[in-house]
Amino acid sequence: MRRVTAIFLFLALAAAAPAATTDYLLGESVRQLGLRDAARQAGDGKSSERYVAPGGLGFYAEYSRDHIIVDGIKVMLDDAVGSQRGHLTISRRDYDKVFVPLFWESPRGPVRRILLDPGHGGKDTGKINGAQKYNEKAATLDTAARLKLLLEKQGYEVFLTRNSDVFVDLEDRPAFAAKLRADLFISLHYNAGPAGDDTADGVETYCLTPAGQRSTNAGKARSTTAAEPANRFDGPNLLLAWSIQRRMIRTTGSDDRGVRRARFSVLRTLACPGVLIEGGFMSSRREGALIAEAAYRQKIAEAIAAGVADYVGRARPPAKATK
Ligand SMILES: [Zn+2]
Repeated sequence: MRRVTAIFLFLALAAAAPAATTDYLLGESVRQLGLRDAARQAGDGKSSERYVAPGGLGFYAEYSRDHIIVDGIKVMLDDAVGSQRGHLTISRRDYDKVFVPLFWESPRGPVRRILLDPGHGGKDTGKINGAQKYNEKAATLDTAARLKLLLEKQGYEVFLTRNSDVFVDLEDRPAFAAKLRADLFISLHYNAGPAGDDTADGVETYCLTPAGQRSTNAGKARSTTAAEPANRFDGPNLLLAWSIQRRMIRTTGSDDRGVRRARFSVLRTLACPGVLIEGGFMSSRREGALIAEAAYRQKIAEAIAAGVADYVGRARPPAKATK
């Protein structure tokens, strides 16, 4: 009888609970992951907290922001950073899908075979930079060829979804990864801003949106939030995206548009971890000119190769501290 009352009371409370109770206190939750406090600033709408992991990896969070900064790199959250009595809070799903994979664990299988996916091809030119007379399909194929050489030097078996200027269906790209039994999939793209905008620039890396979450490219609309087959790699997907984005920003000095999430068709059905990279804006007067230069594409390739090495070589975190 008492138990029934307790269950009923729990259900009544859960139903009436405000959204905030589904949040975790940031400090409390990341200390469980072995991080320690590094800095804290409380103030009118400008609260921020900083934490450091035993290996030195740290992050910075600020009230109301839609992202955190992890070792200098912007990682988009599903819910903005909240606050409870002067302490920052994060949502449970961000704890599970961002903090745990980045700071605690991302079970990763061995990586031997990598499939590179130069975006577009053939009748699909992708983005075009008229001033440079250069287009995305040529830039992605060239970047893939450079990256292949670098990854082969690291000892991987590397394949491309296309080796020449041919059209490849979007669905065939992840299907090829499954057929090859690839261990990683990296799709290469270059971006473009709205028509007539030649100033938007920066580099961003996408991984598949976790089930139930909004894609960062979907505006405010919560379009589909369905689960996809490749959601079983949510942790490794994010870790790979962050590892590559970090190296790209450090190498190019480009504007960091962050680690983002989308349900791109090339990512949804993958049978291995994968990411989609936007290595700069074809449409930008400044960046478009850079992308047309071999030296920039080589830098991007070197950064991605270094990001893959970081992902593969990342040591497992120390055993969880017991209370
Ligand atoms: Zn593209």
